[in-house]
Order: sequence, then C-alpha cells, then structure tokens
Amino acid sequence: MSLPPLVEPAESLSVDEIRRYSRHLIIPDVGVAGQKRLKNAKVLCVGAGGLGSPALMYLAAAGVGTLGIVEFDTVDESNLQRQIIHGQSDIGRPKAESAAASIREINPYVNVVIHNTAIDRDNVFDIFGQYDLIVDGTDNFATRYLVNDAAVLLGKPYVWGSIYRFDGQASVFWAEHGPCYRCLYPEPPPPGMVPSCAEGGVLGVLCASIGAIQVTEAIKLLTGVGEPLVGSLMVYDALEMTYRKIKVRKDPACALCGENPTVTQLLEDYEDFCGAVSVEAQEAVVDSTITARELKEWQDAEKDFLLVDVREPAEFEIVRIPGSVLIPKGEILSGEALATLPQDKQIVLHCKSGVRSAEALAALKAAGFKDAVHVQGGVLAWVKTIDPSLPSY
Ligand SMILES: [Zn+2]
Repeated sequence: MSLPPLVEPAESLSVDEIRRYSRHLIIPDVGVAGQKRLKNAKVLCVGAGGLGSPALMYLAAAGVGTLGIVEFDTVDESNLQRQIIHGQSDIGRPKAESAAASIREINPYVNVVIHNTAIDRDNVFDIFGQYDLIVDGTDNFATRYLVNDAAVLLGKPYVWGSIYRFDGQASVFWAEHGPCYRCLYPEPPPPGMVPSCAEGGVLGVLCASIGAIQVTEAIKLLTGVGEPLVGSLMVYDALEMTYRKIKVRKDPACALCGENPTVTQLLEDYEDFCGAVSVEAQEAVVDSTITARELKEWQDAEKDFLLVDVREPAEFEIVRIPGSVLIPKGEILSGEALATLPQDKQIVLHCKSGVRSAEALAALKAAGFKDAVHVQGGVLAWVKTIDPSLPSY
C-alpha cells in the first residue's frame, strides 16, 4: 500500500541546501519536491539512546527541517557502546543536549527542539501535537504503550523499533491505515518475562540496523515514496543475517483502534499497566527486603545465610558481591534449583537492580522458604554504597 506524502513541500531550497542535498535531488523519486517536503517536516524522536542515536543522525543528515528530541536521561559511559550520537566528552551531560549538539554539527539547517523531560500522560499530547511524525526509540513497555495510545488518539503515524541482543523488529503504526501496536501486542508481557537490554544486553551495531529501517520508513512516509511498513512487521536476525517481513492485520477487537474501543483516553498509569514488578513479587518483598548496607552488616557479623545471585552467568562474570553463589532466576522459577537450596539457612537473594530477585523471592516463598529476603537495589546498590571500586554495568 502506498500512501500520499505526509507533509507539503517547503517553498524553496537555498543554493547551499541544493548543494548539500544533491545526492537526494538527483534520485527521481525524491527530487526537489521530496527534499522540500523533508525541509518542511517536523519529526519527533522519543529517546536519544540506542535507536534514537542513528535515527536522529540520519534524519538530520537527510535534511528533516525540524527535529524534536524527548529525553530526560544523561549520558553514561555504558551508553557509548551503541549510542553513537554521544561521545566521551558528553558523559554526565543531558542526552537531549548532547544529541542536539551532534545534530547541529551534522546539519546546521536543522531546527532542533529539545524536550529535556520524561514523556508522560500529562505532556505527551502537547509534545506529539507539534510534529508530523514520531519515531519511537524507547526501551520499555510502559513508554511504548503510552507512545502508541497517544499517537492513535491524535491520529498520528509513528515508526516503531525494538532491539534485543542480536534481534530487532520495526514497523509503522498508523491506525487510520493499518494496525497499531496494541493490535500486534494487545497486552504487555508479564513482568520479568521479557528482559530489557540493560538485563540481557544488545549488540551495539543492531541499533544502526533497526534505526536505519526507522529512518528509511520516516523518509518514505514524509515524501510519499514507496510502500511503508504499515501492516507489516520487519523482523531482523543478525546471527542468521535474515530480514523477514510478516503481515500484521488490524485487529477488529483492538481495545484502542478496534470497532468497539474500550481505551478512549490515555491510561492513568502506564507503569502500573505494564507492571514493573508482578503482584506476587510486590507482595513477597514486603517485610522481606534488606538494604545493601544491611547485607554488609550481616556479612561482617558472620550471620549464617546463603547469598544467592539470580542474575545470568555473563553478568556474574562482570561483577559479583563477595560470597555470592550464582543460581539464575530461571532455575528458581522453574523449580529446578529448589532442591539444591539449604532448608536450615536463611536465603538472601539479589540481582542487578532488585526486580528479578523480587520475582525469585516470590517463587521461593511459595516453595516454603518463608524467611528468605532480597536485597533492595541489588548489585547496583552494593557498588554504589559499599564498594564503588567495583564496575557498574
Ligand atoms: Zn489497534
């Protein structure tokens, strides 16, 4: 399905712009008219991280006239393996500012608009309303559903992408012409089921592969060229080096864009909808949580307990709390590891940040380990408060 161009052309291109964009101008399908449309386009990138980095850089180079950036985070050293819009000297700087500086260096003709804030239900309509097209580079389900719901309710198209380890996906969601994200994923996955890139890792260059698809789709939508990924899901496997295009149909029963929608406004709380931690885990941690400092005190007092690290082996290799033994969360949830755990000792669980250990704690309590506890904030809290010489990741 081809669609008409999303934006009207700008009045003219300057002599400098004609020189700069000449390799676009000589493509018959783009030409001066297409480049003028890009000049007139207003595109918002949600997130200036893994996907936002290549997306913003290529959108800028392509001559998109106005580029908005919504991002509240600051640049961390662990971002630089993939977030190539930021550099070493940007560490500690707000990502939105760092990205804006890079964009100005790539193309001074771009008008950069910084939204140095987290996108939420109170500001999303106001921010989205200023743009023709949204590029979603977010890395969590709560923001993904918020972006989708706001885009559908405003009748705006957006280009979605997601990455994990060696796998990536991309699509264009535009409820007026095809399915929305909820048609594809009506419900968020149960908390703890789908690990984030912070938990499971991501091959840095995968961001470029998926970010490039997102920019290609954005340019096609803005200029009305080719067949956009509306109604199609692109699935990329870097290990096999395959791209598969899967048809996605609009779901007539979709809660948001279906025939009898039940979601007619933004949800009260997207974090809640996506359940950062499951109900069972929330209940399990009540009165069964210790701090990193308390763990240290227990160790110093030689209290008799077993410290179990429920992260994955690769994470255990990077950094570990002294005295911990590794039993990945999956082995606890499946019940496989339960028989190996001592009945006569208190068990203290920890993970990286406290989410996975809360899930594992719920399983342990259900299996009868009533006095088990978990460490709030996990390894990150330990590094921060007990031993800053250890690496954070
Ligand atoms: Zn839908």
